[in-house]
Amino acid sequence: MSIKTNNKPLVYKTHIFYKMVNSIKSNFVWIVIIALFILGCSTEEAIEEPKKQESISYSEEDSNENALSIITLNLRVHIMKDITMVHPTGFPLENWVTTDDVEKTIVPELNDIWEQAGIVWSIESILEENVVKGENYQESLNYIVNAKRDSNGNSDPERLPHLYSLMQPQHRSAEENLRNNLFHIYLFPFIGNTSQGNAMKSFNNHSVVGTWTNKHNGGGIPEKTLLTESHSSFTRGSLARTIAHEIGHVLTLSHNECANECLMGGTNSDGYQITDSQIIASRIEAIGRSF
Ligand SMILES: [Zn+2]
Repeated sequence: MSIKTNNKPLVYKTHIFYKMVNSIKSNFVWIVIIALFILGCSTEEAIEEPKKQESISYSEEDSNENALSIITLNLRVHIMKDITMVHPTGFPLENWVTTDDVEKTIVPELNDIWEQAGIVWSIESILEENVVKGENYQESLNYIVNAKRDSNGNSDPERLPHLYSLMQPQHRSAEENLRNNLFHIYLFPFIGNTSQGNAMKSFNNHSVVGTWTNKHNGGGIPEKTLLTESHSSFTRGSLARTIAHEIGHVLTLSHNECANECLMGGTNSDGYQITDSQIIASRIEAIGRSF
């Protein structure tokens, strides 16, 4: 009895154990199916997810590799005032470009053109600057309005010191600050016949452009330079494109670096392009001056 009694619980325990085993056995197939299903799902995810991530990160890396990091450079635009330049044709030329024209039309277009190099021009200031009227003032104006290109097509370098003499010294970059992140554009009424801009390399890159021009009519009566012009139907050039070009010189680029027109110098939509090597060269110079 005692054995029976003693066995009862054992039998009972064994019975429960059996029930459990049987239950597991009978459900084993289902457990395996469920486990496989879960495992299958997670395995699928484990395989697919990294693939997805890989392809996303690849495309991100890929686009990052192609997208140039932005370099921001500061621009000071000087609108030269208190100056009337009487052209030999008898036409009086005064500055007509406004600060609004610079801020809302010229600089946005300048940035549109320079976007290809990842360079952004930020307006440091737009100064309405009265010209310096030294003792040779009138002589300088006469020289500039009569300046012409030579038989080789080169513009007259002798007009440049005259233009420089009209700039207020306190608004130029001091010698010790020339390599800083500050670039100058001077808008003069006129900078010489058939000439629209000059980077003024020998005058510390205080670049000049004319708001009147007779380049498009071969030295005839000057007309207002266009603020911007459609990239696809280039006919005259514009202030924005001329500034983009001169600033390219300041960033070390020169003409004739490519077989086709470059440095914004062409006569069609290609005239807004710079070459890959020019992009690299301009970015090296820009980075060096961007701090
Ligand atoms: Zn040039």
